[in-house]
Amino acid sequence: MIPEFDLVIPQNLQQALESLQLSDHKASPLAGGTNLVVDMRSGRSSPALLVNINDLPELHEISLVGGELKIGGTVTIAELQAHPLVKTYCPVLVAAAEVFANPLVRNRATLGGNLVDASPAADCAPPLLALDAEVELVSLAGSRRVRLDDFFTGVRKTVVQPDEILAAVYLPAGKPGTVSAFYKIGLRKADAIAVVSAAIWIETGPDHRCKKARIALGSVAPRPMRAVQAENSLVGSLLTAQAIQQVGRLAAAEVSPISDLRASADYRRKMVEVVVCRLLSQVTSQVQQQDDAHAA
Ligand SMILES: Cc1cc2nc3c(=O)[nH]c(=O)nc-3n(C[C@H](O)[C@H](O)[C@H](O)COP(=O)(O)OP(=O)(O)OC[C@H]3O[C@@H](n4cnc5c(N)ncnc54)[C@H](O)[C@@H]3O)c2cc1C
Repeated sequence: MIPEFDLVIPQNLQQALESLQLSDHKASPLAGGTNLVVDMRSGRSSPALLVNINDLPELHEISLVGGELKIGGTVTIAELQAHPLVKTYCPVLVAAAEVFANPLVRNRATLGGNLVDASPAADCAPPLLALDAEVELVSLAGSRRVRLDDFFTGVRKTVVQPDEILAAVYLPAGKPGTVSAFYKIGLRKADAIAVVSAAIWIETGPDHRCKKARIALGSVAPRPMRAVQAENSLVGSLLTAQAIQQVGRLAAAEVSPISDLRASADYRRKMVEVVVCRLLSQVTSQVQQQDDAHAA
């Protein structure tokens, strides 16, 4: 049974923020409801007031703004999957959207809800960490931008305050010489929570050496994380088979997975090594394809 609650349907963002602030921390924004309603049913969450933010146009935009891709907080996973700007500038996020839950959930679930819910297994987190995304949080006091690196604070915990709404995610629009890839291991091919997920972004120079690297991992720590030592070891290197194996081993050494009904901690750690190596091989092929395209 869902406990009783009041529902407000604000006409604009200002009204939504006023409702949140006036509720004395007893309100929750309601986006797709695919986490919140489940939590209310189980008793994990019992807000007295739901503030429906789904129909606010201010939160639903996808646009290029000053060299950044802006994706509104209530953009759904299905919309991410299909949008031409996201496909062009952010294919790694599209790759995550394609293996997210099932079509029914993808039509309801939002990007903002996925991040604020902050499950260690949230599918959108690794691609956005790998892309060095920032989120915009708004309240009646104003707005602030937070790097996604600093956003997650623990299992289902973030820096978002009760009077704040995640208005948008900002990503640097891709530049030449950058490549990225995502992979998720689940117990089924569809409708599966990640056992391990990983996203990799690298920038290479004309000499093919790695200039910058970001390796982000899901379901292997209390929060979505970056494998910083593995990233550092890549910088300045050529992406040889030996270097790739070394990076995979380093990434596996950085994680702190748990054993649960989906997999053991040992399996997850081993799969981090396997998936990181696989993704690095994939991005190496992408670099080669970019070179071939330039040469042609
Ligand atoms: C059957 C099923 C399968 C699923 N499969 C997956 C999967 O494969 N991968 C995956 O990552 N997740 C999965 N999920 C979890 C869930 O669908 C996602 O986390 C989803 O993105 C949550 O978004 P939502 O819009 O439904 O959030 P809601 O449930 O509406 O909200 C979640 C939380 O975030 C808060 N919130 C929402 N939007 C904002 C905002 N803009 N600003 C501030 N606070 C906000 C809410 O108050 C609430 O606390 C699954 C869920 C179900 C039920």
